This record gives sequence, structure tokens and C-alpha cells, in this order.
Amino acid sequence: MVLRATRIPGPDEAGFSVSNGVRVAFHGVRGSTPVAGPGYGRYGGHSSCVTVESEGEAPLVLDLGTGFSTYGCRVEGEFHGSVLLTHLHWDHVMGLPFFVPLHQAESTLLVYGPRQTEGSLSQAFEDLMRPPYFPIRPQELPGKVDFVDVSEDDFPLGQAKVRSRWVRHNGPTLGFRVELGGTTIAYIPDHGQGCSHGDPDDYVPDAVLELCDGVDLLIHDAQHTLEEYRSHRHWGHSTPNYAVRVAREAGAARLVLFHHDPRHTDDIIDDIARDALEYSRNLGGADVIAAQEGLVLHIPPSGTPVTAGAMALR
Ligand SMILES: [Zn+2]
Ligand SMILES: [Zn+2]
Repeated sequence: MVLRATRIPGPDEAGFSVSNGVRVAFHGVRGSTPVAGPGYGRYGGHSSCVTVESEGEAPLVLDLGTGFSTYGCRVEGEFHGSVLLTHLHWDHVMGLPFFVPLHQAESTLLVYGPRQTEGSLSQAFEDLMRPPYFPIRPQELPGKVDFVDVSEDDFPLGQAKVRSRWVRHNGPTLGFRVELGGTTIAYIPDHGQGCSHGDPDDYVPDAVLELCDGVDLLIHDAQHTLEEYRSHRHWGHSTPNYAVRVAREAGAARLVLFHHDPRHTDDIIDDIARDALEYSRNLGGADVIAAQEGLVLHIPPSGTPVTAGAMALR
């Protein structure tokens, strides 16, 4: 496997096309740490990983949490795809070495992730994955992984048009906007309103609105109840009502509450989703659901309603 920085191609090097929508699959919806047990059977326990697929396009993966390993078990043969990585917290990267297709020499993975304050993204992964923390180093995987350092950029990825912007969290953290198949998706799994000292809670930053403006689907951090947020504000996560507000201000068509707290059982998430939907309806905002491991959304091109697809991954 070769680790190297890859140049981001310019916007004139790939055409953007409109086709027939995308398929969004949720492989891990949990924040902070994976969980298991009888209280987590419906929403699932794996950490952040979502895939976006469009006909004729290589799979686009959003984050490399433990859900990435289960996604890999469903991939047959070699794999060629790209990853949009929001940040390097454990719950967003730990699936990488367990992605079975990378155990084949022919497989390739191109990871676009946040530029670090010191060193490159590839160096950060070399620090993360080595003895004594893990038995092998990234370059010992048979497959080939390349890393691209990203900050506030706009770049093509196959037929997709990608926008990355910094969002408020602990450490360098990106949110992404993806235009593909005639649809637009925003992915902001870790976003703390006011996690910075002295930063007010009651506004939506311009960079976030830029990512979410008029999207067909917004996948947004909703980790804390209001009570939890008051005592964990410094963790850098959102309440469901703040996610609703982002969706409302940006004009998003549908909001998926994401990055569930590991202490939140299925029943608690049911309550959170119901309350958030009611709040959004009162504001005249987006349709709201809570992300569920195994959920697949088939999103038609912009302007038509988003509908929930089969609940089982094929
Ligand atoms: Zn996280
Ligand atoms: Zn995080």
C-alpha cells in the first residue's frame, strides 16, 4: 500500500451531471463510541459511516467509523471508492483497518479529510495505526489508501461536486456538501453550537448555511438532549432542536438526526425524534427522522419528496 498526498483536481477537470437521484445508506449512526445490548437493537450501535451511491459512480463514503467495517462485509470483491472524512476522532476512523476489501491488493481508497494543524493527514493516520495500539501499520494493508488534505475547498469527485467547510467542534472538523445525481446532501455529524468559549449558542454560522443551503437531505449532529447539552456544552455537539433550526434556516427538505449519544437507547431516540419532528412542524421546517443503522434513503432529484426505502441493506 502506498501513502501519499493527492492533488485535488480543479473544477474544469471533471464535468458535473444530473441523473436520477442517489441512494444513501446508514452503516453506523452512533457518536463517541460504539455500543451494543438489548436497548440498541433498532437504531444500532456502530459509529459514524454513511455511503452515497449514484448509478455509474464509485461509492462515496462519509466517515470511517465502525460502521465502515460492516459496510465492507457487504462489498463483494475489490473496492474502489472515495471517503469524505470530517475529522479524526476515534468514532470516525476506527473502521478503516477492519474494512475487508482493503485486504485485497487491487482495492483502492481515496480519503479526503481535514488538514491538520501539524503534519499531513497521512502522517496522522500513521500515528493512529501502529504498534502498540494496532498490530500493523497502514502501509501493511494490502490495498492502497491515499490521503488528500482538505480545508475550505470546492472540488469534483467523479460526477459529484463537493464543498468542504470548517464547522465548530473540538479540533479541525469539516462538514461536507455533496451534489450528485440531481440531489444535494449535507453531512455535518459533529457540530457543537457554541462549543468555543464565549461563542453564542443562538445562531447558525455562515459556513454551515453555505453547506446546507436548500439541500434535499441534511444529516446533522443531534447528540445531546437540552439537559445534557447544558452540562456537556464543551464536547462540541448539538441538540436535536438546534439541528432542526439549522435545517429550517437553510431550507433543507429533510433532516436526519445523527451521531446518537451512546447512552441513548432506542426508546430515548424515539422520544427525541418525535419531539424534534413536532418542533420542526411548529417552525414550518424540514421533515425529520432519526438515523437508524441499516436505513436506506432513495433520494430523487431535487424538488421531489424524500422517501424512506427498504430498511435492510442489500
Ligand atoms: Zn463523533
Ligand atoms: Zn468528534
